[in-house]
Amino acid sequence: MTSPGSHMDTGVLLVGAGPTGLLLACELALAGVRTVVIDKRPKPHRESRALNLHPRSIELMDMRGLAGRFLAAGRTVPGWQFAVSLKRPLDFTALDTRHPYALLLAQARTEALLAQRSRELGVEIRRGHEAVALRQYAEGVETDVYGPDGCVTIRSAYVVGCDGGRSLVRQAAGIGFPGTRESMTAVVGDFAVADHAHNEQARRHGVLVARLEAGLTRYVVMDPQRIRVPSTEPVTLEEFRTSLMRVCGSDCGIGEPRWLSRFGNTTRLAAAYRRGRVLLAGDAAHIHFPVGAQGLNTGLQDAMNLGWKLAATVRGWAPPGLLDTYHAERHPVGHAVTTATRAQTLLVELPLTEQYAGPARHLCELLDTLLDMEDVNRHLAGRISALDTTYPPTTPDADPLTGRRMPDLGLTTAAGPTRVYELLHDGRFVLLRLDGGQHPRAATAPASSGRVRGVSVLGHGDHPDLKNVSEILIRPDGHIAWATRTTEPRVLHAGRAAALTAWTTWTGAC
Ligand SMILES: Cc1cc2nc3c(=O)[nH]c(=O)nc-3n(C[C@H](O)[C@H](O)[C@H](O)COP(=O)(O)OP(=O)(O)OC[C@H]3O[C@@H](n4cnc5c(N)ncnc54)[C@H](O)[C@@H]3O)c2cc1C
Repeated sequence: MTSPGSHMDTGVLLVGAGPTGLLLACELALAGVRTVVIDKRPKPHRESRALNLHPRSIELMDMRGLAGRFLAAGRTVPGWQFAVSLKRPLDFTALDTRHPYALLLAQARTEALLAQRSRELGVEIRRGHEAVALRQYAEGVETDVYGPDGCVTIRSAYVVGCDGGRSLVRQAAGIGFPGTRESMTAVVGDFAVADHAHNEQARRHGVLVARLEAGLTRYVVMDPQRIRVPSTEPVTLEEFRTSLMRVCGSDCGIGEPRWLSRFGNTTRLAAAYRRGRVLLAGDAAHIHFPVGAQGLNTGLQDAMNLGWKLAATVRGWAPPGLLDTYHAERHPVGHAVTTATRAQTLLVELPLTEQYAGPARHLCELLDTLLDMEDVNRHLAGRISALDTTYPPTTPDADPLTGRRMPDLGLTTAAGPTRVYELLHDGRFVLLRLDGGQHPRAATAPASSGRVRGVSVLGHGDHPDLKNVSEILIRPDGHIAWATRTTEPRVLHAGRAAALTAWTTWTGAC
């Protein structure tokens, strides 16, 4: 066996150019890490599994100056279904965000926009290249990649498996993927439909109907007589039409499909998101039934959490243990999503079964009444939108804001008006001094370095959670690393210095 030695072909090799791999590539490139993405498919997907971005994902795009591109490409809707068997949707309009909606955007468009951004940032995407094996050494990873010129070995400091549910990277790293097997399936089809008169009727009978771009309409059908057919069995147009007729009494005028597929509720979560120099993100780490539309969104949030940590590690300034916080923070989120989607899937499945149809319908009616209650709706909308995702604090005496998502406050600074998410565009930490300069001795020069942008705020929009907060350190992924309410200069200095050292190992003037 040879050792990879000091020569690396690239800092990070990302296996998989799906949405997770592409956003992670953007994050690494933004932080100055040489990144290569490989994908076994010679061309990007044309068909789109996912249909939407939830509010937190749109916020992530906003933090990198990309929200405009995404919003221009899709269509916003005020909420989303917790489960298609419920009549009352989740209401995103009441959420505390500048983006209180879901963005209907086909996965292929999301991937195209992220691929465009990665190319702008200098990422190399090699399509038609399949990872077939990998070996870890102390200094790096060797990945065997089969491409148009045969098999080559790529040496990198780290490899991230963004290669979907059947992840070769996960298997090669020996990471388990425990969970539950498929017990039900549904069929999905995209069609050019001229007459939409039957769509409402279809929706009333539990068919998911969504108008896509380019004149296509998506139908997702769960036919009680076909939900036990394994996902490996191909769908025919005839089966699809028959199922639509059976479920809603109309074939909705569907013609030749652009795409037909069958998918199931296999639910699995990787035992670890990191093993040595190999990490997992997106579907490679978690798979579940697409109820609530959370798979792609969770993958984007994994990428945003991992990007800056991996970049800091590769560039050599990460504090000890930073990379391990990726598993510590994102594995519980994966656990919560896979657990919740199993429960949500039952709400879809039980009304379709002979044994439980009656009581399950009552349960759905009951849940609809609960969803009419503002607090209940807000609670579930906060979870599904991922706006309520909070990471555990790293110290016992941390301010309660620590780990929470930073709201996009409007700010007045000496340089003019701005907002928090604009300050995050270049992917650095942001240190905000919010006391309006009332304590000049406390923070004469907020820290600014390659890792941290320091900003003195003269005024900011009121936010109930930020009352009395005098200073706040925001991570590149928009979560709060540290906050303080003290205005006592010596305590403030000491707290700030400790937080900057702990998070960025930066010990410059602050
Ligand atoms: C019917 C359906 C509807 C869905 N709807 C939604 C929705 O509305 N919202 C939502 O958030 N999610 C939805 N999802 C889930 C969503 O599609 C996935 O979660 C998402 O695609 C995961 O992205 P990813 O980048 O992690 O993995 P993938 O999109 O699976 O990308 C993995 C990439 O890796 C490549 N690859 C695999 N193996 C190798 C290898 N050995 N070498 C090189 N390349 C490799 C593949 O070619 C692929 O391009 C839906 C899923 C289904 C099935």
